[in-house]
Amino acid sequence: MKSVVKKGFVYLVGAGPGRADLITIRGAEVLRSADCIIYDKLANPALLKLARPDAEIISVPKRTPAGGQGEALHRIKPAFGGFSQEEINRLLVEKASEGKIVVRLKGGDPCIFGRCAEELTVLIEAGIDFEIVPGVTAGIAAADYTGILLTDRRYSSQVVFVTGQEAEGKQQSNIDWQWLAKFQGTIVFYMGMGSLSSIAAKLMGNGMSADTPAAVIADATLPSQRVVKAPLGRVSKECKREQIEPPAIVVIGAAAGSDVGPSWFMKKPLFGKNIVVTRDSAGNADFAAKIICRGGNPIEFPTMKIKPLTEKNEFLRALAKISQYDWVVFTSSNGVSIFFEALRSLGKDARVFGSNKIAAIGGETAAKLAEFGIKADFVPSVFTGRELGRQLIGLTNLRGKKILLLRSQLASDELVEILRQAEAEVLNVPVYAIVEQKAPAACLAPGKTRGGWLIEKINKGKVDWLTFASPSSVRVFFEQIPIRAVNSGTVKVASIGPTTSEQLKNLGVRVDVTAGEHTVDGLLAAIEKTYA
Ligand code: SAH
Repeated sequence: MKSVVKKGFVYLVGAGPGRADLITIRGAEVLRSADCIIYDKLANPALLKLARPDAEIISVPKRTPAGGQGEALHRIKPAFGGFSQEEINRLLVEKASEGKIVVRLKGGDPCIFGRCAEELTVLIEAGIDFEIVPGVTAGIAAADYTGILLTDRRYSSQVVFVTGQEAEGKQQSNIDWQWLAKFQGTIVFYMGMGSLSSIAAKLMGNGMSADTPAAVIADATLPSQRVVKAPLGRVSKECKREQIEPPAIVVIGAAAGSDVGPSWFMKKPLFGKNIVVTRDSAGNADFAAKIICRGGNPIEFPTMKIKPLTEKNEFLRALAKISQYDWVVFTSSNGVSIFFEALRSLGKDARVFGSNKIAAIGGETAAKLAEFGIKADFVPSVFTGRELGRQLIGLTNLRGKKILLLRSQLASDELVEILRQAEAEVLNVPVYAIVEQKAPAACLAPGKTRGGWLIEKINKGKVDWLTFASPSSVRVFFEQIPIRAVNSGTVKVASIGPTTSEQLKNLGVRVDVTAGEHTVDGLLAAIEKTYA
């Protein structure tokens, strides 16, 4: 037996079929805890945002097998030869033997056509403990996202998953084509794109009708999802005509032709739309999630950065006396996150509040507080500083009450004035500042501009919308992207409100829509309306 000095642990985690938030809660949880993440190209890289900042992240694109289509590796072609399965196996053992918590992140479910057997065998041989975290497999997700009901009882009481690409060097096929051609149910092929015409030929050659319905779903669950539905005899030709590329799932059988299930995903209002978001990273992440829920593809181009001011004496002094305040007011979820991060780094927790009451502007701010175990005592019905002030005055007598405002450095004085008029004793402490963010000039190739990659996308017509949520993001964005590229292209411009639109117009940028309700949801609603 091999001896392992320090034993780590390996989680074999299913990343889900494509869309990042289709990972399981358990999968997300172990990703957050990992010391080392070894991930496949089929796993959505957005999931890596869950990783700890100090986690080691290793991408292991597979090497294209000789003679194979290398289809499982489609999304980003590795710049170098890629990894062999043996190299991945060795890496798993090596990292776990260093005592690390290793997450092996694989597309879909880790054990469905995932070379799981090889990885498990080496772990068992090395005496390394492991857990398998199931994932939503692509075949099921692709069907769900196109309204194909794999087991609609009227057509199909059975489903079979088949690989279109058998193990390298295998002499004899394990697939019984004769049996499959007679199968009364739904057949789901993985890795079948490269050999689609031969799959169809083998099935028809064994007696399956050329009229049998078939569907091919590429990039399932992603904004780039595409579907081709055609009878078996024509499906391969249709896919070529439509230039369908892997990864794709092929569904064959009556279920693929049924129109009972709605094609709900591709009918979403912003399906497939490429939308650039230009706030700070945290704001962009939140905005991006909303775009994904509407079927769109967010492209993040941060123009701002949040800079905590919690190391300043002003904050530390306020924190030392925080329990003396009657009310503590948070006005943004950023403020809450930064406040609690500061507490954590000082070795403190929510108990610093003692008996004070806590107010929050906006559902997002209240939800962020709840993440830290705090239920806001008061959230105004309208999410502005002015309303918070007015409604708080209506709620309780503020005369002589001590109120601490923990806000952005940029927050307006209006709330302070309203509260002071009610004779409250107000202390306003900035917990963060918003500063410009640009790609550092040092990372630029000679002759390239900062936003080069985005300019290229805009010029190629691959961006549908640019969104702006503040005048300052407009300014920083157009310091990097020439106005000409935007005005002369097909890209449209959406702004969150009149002040932002004014800034755009002053620069000479054409504004296509201005949100009626000045929130991110209002902005998206305004964009959706243009497609109604
Ligand atoms: N373990 C994975 C499958 C790996 S095999 C799972 O459970 O889903 C790789 C094949 O999965 C691809 O060739 C393709 O057939 C399928 N696949 C993976 N992601 C896909 C996606 N987003 N859309 C369509 N097919 C996908």
